[in-house]
Amino acid sequence: MNTDLDSRVRTAAFHFLEAETRLVADKVLPHALLAKGFMFDGQRVPLLSPQGIFKPAVLPEMPLTIRTKYVEDGEAAPYHDVIGTDGLLRYCYRGTDPGHRDNVGLRLAMQRQVPLIYCHGVLAGRYVVEWPVFIVGDSPGELTFTVNMDEHRFALLGEVGANDSETDGRRRYITRQVQQRLHQEGFRQRVMAAYLAHCAVCRLRHEELLEAAHILPDGHPQGHPVIPNGLSLCKLHHAAFDANILRIRPDYEIEIRLDVLKEIDGPMLKHGLQEFHRGRLWTPHRPLHKPKPEFLEERYAMFRDAS
Ligand SMILES: [Zn+2]
Repeated sequence: MNTDLDSRVRTAAFHFLEAETRLVADKVLPHALLAKGFMFDGQRVPLLSPQGIFKPAVLPEMPLTIRTKYVEDGEAAPYHDVIGTDGLLRYCYRGTDPGHRDNVGLRLAMQRQVPLIYCHGVLAGRYVVEWPVFIVGDSPGELTFTVNMDEHRFALLGEVGANDSETDGRRRYITRQVQQRLHQEGFRQRVMAAYLAHCAVCRLRHEELLEAAHILPDGHPQGHPVIPNGLSLCKLHHAAFDANILRIRPDYEIEIRLDVLKEIDGPMLKHGLQEFHRGRLWTPHRPLHKPKPEFLEERYAMFRDAS
């Protein structure tokens, strides 16, 4: 009876998330929507509460949601949920008591292999939501649970359960994709918010035409997906920045490459690129969010060497 109720609530929650994420391009849901949740047999079932591990009242024993809060760059994270080298998420216990009812509930979810929802904060009040996720390990010594985030996608690719090296390799590959998606989506959301969804060069304000550019590229030791290493740019200016046609000096002055500056062509070249030469980059108001001059300087040097 309880088992039946439990699985019906989880199924309804997954349907709710499927319907809600169908309406958004980036699979990012606002806190208010998740906290409000959905109706089940005349009862409201929220998906989030102030606690990281959350069991709505309708469920008898096991939590429904686990959450990692967004931490503003520079703030200390209250919990350090990380993805291990095995590609699995380590989710921190509630507090330090393995016997706390939230921890007991997650352990039960592990023993019964009950699917959960993972909400990963990418911005204040915004979450990338993954489901179903499963608790696959419990480490009282480290006060963490191990969470598999890709069983669903994994299942779509073929057989599940075999524990051979090919399976492990595929799992790592998919988890890297999930991890990258969480990072990239978070980066985009934060950069868009910091730049109030404007292109830093031309101030275009159509979010669907804007992208979050890295100043120091992904793979560079300092190429982290953080706001001071980011720029909100429209597609044209992002491409021009990546192609070294448009450069940004550490003092935020924009330069158009000399050969392109001298070219004679139509209005797109003139108004889209040449007129921004010696113009000033439009940057966020908050000093912490401005592009870091050291990053711009290194990027500028990288491209000077290349050209
Ligand atoms: Zn632009």
